[in-house]
Formats: sequence, structure tokens, C-alpha cells
Amino acid sequence: MCGIFAIINDKTQKAAQTVLEGLKKLEYRGYDSWGIAAFLSSSAKKISLEKHIGKIGEAKTTLGRADIAIGHTRWATHGGVTDFNAHPHLDCQEKIAVIHNGIVENYQEIKETLIKNNHQFRSQTDTEVIAHLIEEKLKTQSIKDAVFDSFNSIIGSNAIGVMDIESQTIIACRNGSPLVVGIDEKNQQHFLGSDVPAFLKYTNKVYFLNDGEGVIIDKNGIKLYDLKTKKQKIIKYQILDWKLEDAEKSGYPHFLIKEINEQKNTIAKTASINENEIKKIVDLYKKGYQIKIIGCGSAFYCGLTGKYFFANNNIDVDVYGAYEYLPFEKFVNKKTLIFAISQSGETADTLIAAKSAKKLGAKIVAIVNARGSTLERMADIVIPVGAGPEIAVVSTKAFTAQLATLYLIANALNKNYSQAQQKIKKYEKNII
Ligand code: GLU
Repeated sequence: MCGIFAIINDKTQKAAQTVLEGLKKLEYRGYDSWGIAAFLSSSAKKISLEKHIGKIGEAKTTLGRADIAIGHTRWATHGGVTDFNAHPHLDCQEKIAVIHNGIVENYQEIKETLIKNNHQFRSQTDTEVIAHLIEEKLKTQSIKDAVFDSFNSIIGSNAIGVMDIESQTIIACRNGSPLVVGIDEKNQQHFLGSDVPAFLKYTNKVYFLNDGEGVIIDKNGIKLYDLKTKKQKIIKYQILDWKLEDAEKSGYPHFLIKEINEQKNTIAKTASINENEIKKIVDLYKKGYQIKIIGCGSAFYCGLTGKYFFANNNIDVDVYGAYEYLPFEKFVNKKTLIFAISQSGETADTLIAAKSAKKLGAKIVAIVNARGSTLERMADIVIPVGAGPEIAVVSTKAFTAQLATLYLIANALNKNYSQAQQKIKKYEKNII
């Protein structure tokens, strides 16, 4: 995991500072090192770079005036935690800067070929091969084709952001790791991030990329492409109901304590928002569907607690850690309802299990907190628990909102929806 953030057309000309502030909102995604690359207005022919190991915390950047910048918070997978290994990574000519979330599984073969073609590497990361691969392809291709073809040739779950000095664009591609773009129409500023909190201060008008999609962002806007055909697609933005305070500490010393306190409201809110979707589950259950719950980590524990809620309502459900789902797949069929629980909706093992169950004809119920995720898009029924962005790594308000949701569903299946709803709402009064 890591945090990706970029801005284009920063109206304050402080793109590097804007990126740094955005990265601080993404620190929960990776915190061993960070870095920023910018086109300084004073030297538009050269990329300026700043990289540091350690947490971003109260860091400041010394990079000067710029209206385009990209940045990254790293969680190292290949190569130690050093300044050199921190992202962004540049090509030999320092005209392209790359930030990356994921693992390039075939980076060794690519690196060997590039070294034979005289590319000079500065880091031990898998990521750096992407910058040199794009540089190599640029000898014969446009920047769009060079980036898309490079991305198509790497193996693994990856998302990249590429800043190109010649075209003054940021190009991003997604396959398995999250990416979202935001458009601030008032100021004509455009954003790229791993997650919305990075740019929520500027806009809530967003598009979550699907696997196999890429974007080209320039001063005039954002264009969406299919990575295989390279054809442009229509981009359909959504407006999120998240507020700026959701991504701020709002006077609390850290996000964990803020999110613990928010449970006073989030648990009760959960009880009011999914009535229609829960009715759909009740209808399927009446038709003989069997429920199985999958999740990883906290979401798995949530499922285990849910098993008791269902048992108390005379319903037996199976609960699997999504990472151990495969041996049990033989029990899944067209009459199975898979409850896939995930805060982010991007948990890799939960996605693999849910996709595989869907292939066998099961219906997928996504019980998620973040919006626009892969899990949400593949689900037949989506139950957003509405706790708002959960930034602390430890799950609190999303966990309890998911727990309350399972309680509600278990009771709804036993014709006790309203009583369960009242009980949950009363809980709010009791803890205030
Ligand atoms: N594999 C890359 C690295 O080790 C990216 C890791 C990340 O997603 O933060 O630098």
C-alpha cells in the first residue's frame, strides 16, 4: 500500500505544498518515506525533486513555485527505506517522474533489458523500471502510448501516476490498486489520488478508476481511456457526500481518537440509511438463499460477531477469512448470498474470494464504508455503512457501523427490523 497524490494547474502556484498537505492525509497508506516532484515555474525544462525517509508529520517542502506536482508516501516492498528508494522515480533524462502503488512482479526481466539499453538506475525499487521503460518507448511512441504500453507490460496489482515534462500532463493507470481523480471546476484544478481525503478540501466531484482504465490530466481537464484499446471513454463523475471535516483532525490530537468519538453518531446513522437494500436481502433470503460472510482482519472479526446476531435470530451462517475461502468454495452455488465485508472495498483477498463466488453464480452483498470501490462495483447489492472516511489504520467507526449493519440485517431476516433499528438508535442516546 502507498499514497499517491498529484495536482495540475494549482492556482496558488504552490503545487508542491498542496501535494505535501494531501500526502499528510494519505500517510495511513504508507509511512516509511515520502517524496514530491514538481515542474518549477522558474525552470520548466527540469523536474525538481525532494525525498525523505521517515514520517511526513509536520514536514515542510523547500520546492519553489509550481503549478504541477506529484507526490508519494511509501511502504517499501522492493529496496530498503532510503531517500533514493523513495518515490517519485525519474528516467535517465529526468523528464518523467513516476509514483507507484503495488509490485511489478516482472521487474527483474524488464530491468535487465533496460540495463542492456544503457539505462542508469539510481534505486533498488521495482518502480524505477517503469520510468525507464516509458523513456525507452518514448523513442518511438507518443507519451500516451508509451505510458499505456509500459503499464500493460508490467505484471501484478499496480497503480501508477506519471508526470511528463514535455506534454505538461499527468497520466495515471490502474490495475488492482485504487486511484481516484477529482475535478475542482471553480478553480479549474485537477487532482489524482489513492483516496479522496487527499483532495477533499478542494472538491467532492470524483471519478474512481476501474481496473484497466487510464487517465490523462492536463490544464484543460481529465480524459479517461481504456488501457487495452487506448480509446477514450466517457467519464461519469459522482458527487460524494463527504465533508471537509471528515478528512481533518478537527481539534483532536490524532485521527484514531477523533474516529472513536465519531461513533456517537455513526452507529445510529448506519441504522437509517439502507432500508431498501436490506429489503432486497430479506427477499432473497425468503427465496432460499444461504448466507456466507467473508472478510479479512477486522472485517473477519466483524463477521464472526455477526454469526451470533444471526444465530440469535435462528439463522445459521458460515464465516470465512477471505484468505482461507478457497477450500470452502465447493459449498457456494447459485443460491448463496456472499456478504463481503471491507472498509475500503479494495481488500485484495476479499475481492478474489468475492469474484470467484460470483463466477459460481452467488450474489454478492458488499458491506463497505469507502465509496466507489472495486467491491462496490462488482456487488449485486451494496450496503454502504456511511461512517465517513476512516483514516486511522485501526478500524473503529467503520467496524462498529458494519457490526450494527449485520445486527440490523440479522433482525430484519427475523421480522425484527424496526425494533433493531430503535435499539441501535437508543445506543446513541446512551453513550452521549
Ligand atoms: N513496490 C514499490 C516500492 O517498494 C511501491 C511500494 C508501495 O506501494 O508503497 O517502492
